[in-house]
Amino acid sequence: MDCLFCAIIKGDIPSSKVYEDDNCYAFLDINPQAPTHVLVVPKAHIASADEINAENSQTVANIFKVIPEIASQLGLGDGYRIVTNIGENGCQSVKHLHFHILGGKKLSENMA
Ligand code: AMP
Ligand code: ZN
Repeated sequence: MDCLFCAIIKGDIPSSKVYEDDNCYAFLDINPQAPTHVLVVPKAHIASADEINAENSQTVANIFKVIPEIASQLGLGDGYRIVTNIGENGCQSVKHLHFHILGGKKLSENMA
């Protein structure tokens, strides 16, 4: 399967690692949209949040367990935003589930 984020997780494509455990990998977004912009991805290939189900939801739960640790490591004590885009209308460009962590400034009140 030709998946950019699977290749990043394998180390075939370089990335700036922020955090890693057995379940997930976090790295700097190459085109940051906030002073801090990190992507957290499950190591297992899941196409999007629309593909979360009873079999794979534990990996998502584990990601949400470590996001506060990652945010703390990034110095985001004043708050941050978690975003996941889904499909065409959601403007998802990489078809491997990822959670954007955005922070480091007062973010826009607009979400759509
Ligand atoms: P989305 O549009 O929600 O699918 O988000 C995909 C994100 O991946 C975008 O914010 C891109 O800037 C980011 N991205 C694309 N290629 C890379 C890469 N090689 N390394 C890090 N981030 C990337
Ligand atoms: Zn993948």
